[in-house]
Amino acid sequence: MLPDLPLPLLVQFILCPLVLLSLLFVTAPYGRHFQPGWGPSLPNRMAWVIMELPALLTIAVLTLATSAGQSPVAWVPLLFWCGHYSYRTFVFPAMMRPSEKTFPAQLVLFAIAFNLLNGWNNSAALLENAESGMPLLTPHFLLGAALFLAGFVMHVHSDAIIRNLRQPGESEYRVPMGGMFRWVGSPNYLGEIIMWSGWAVMTWSLAGLAFALFTFCNLAPRAVSNHRWYRQTFPNYPLGRKILIPGIF
Ligand code: NDP
Repeated sequence: MLPDLPLPLLVQFILCPLVLLSLLFVTAPYGRHFQPGWGPSLPNRMAWVIMELPALLTIAVLTLATSAGQSPVAWVPLLFWCGHYSYRTFVFPAMMRPSEKTFPAQLVLFAIAFNLLNGWNNSAALLENAESGMPLLTPHFLLGAALFLAGFVMHVHSDAIIRNLRQPGESEYRVPMGGMFRWVGSPNYLGEIIMWSGWAVMTWSLAGLAFALFTFCNLAPRAVSNHRWYRQTFPNYPLGRKILIPGIF
């Protein structure tokens, strides 16, 4: 029996194990894992802007266009979301130092579709919270907001360490050091997973849970592939560095 969820949310939950299983067998072919043979490609910067803009706009438009969306219970969490997606859509692509490798259009299309679905589901959750009359400053909001901010800081700091491995115009790969890289190979992904787990707690919603779960299912297999790639590429890669969770995995 399928749980009694709205169809778009059910689809998002069903996507999680499917994405996890697929990515355990096939590494998404972009960046260091780029492979020819995946059809037409886009330049990296353009791909990031096109993919992530729907994530920024969908939830903002759907939420703010309603009267429930005028409640702080809806727009305060929305500010956190938009803060992250403004970084991902505009700041990250503007500052990145990508190689010549390109981004398969298929992945861009999948990401756009996912971002529309995810924006729809999470906007519905914000509006439902606002309409329920719950206060803004609940314990779960405060805990979730703290987690979100901690994850965001880890994420942005780790992205900056990676970016600074290259001078503008360079394209070679180096071993990232310092920050959370002391403990794990993909702290930018860990920060993202913590951030969306914080969102799930902050909004106390199944849509938030579906997004946190999806983020894990999407990024954990890639962290495994990155770890394997670093070990094969750099003989001096730190032996004790874990994949994603300090001291554990
Ligand atoms: P990476 O860190 O692998 O790549 C980001 C940029 O850094 C690329 O330009 C890449 O270059 C460069 N780079 C990476 N490693 C090195 C290195 N060792 N030496 C020099 N340059 C390097 O991240 P992703 O591209 O996988 O993801 C980017 C961001 O998007 C991450 O912060 C991630 O958390 C987020 N993300 C979130 C998802 C979600 O589900 N919420 C899904 C996917 C990503 P090049 O292009 O040449 O490889």
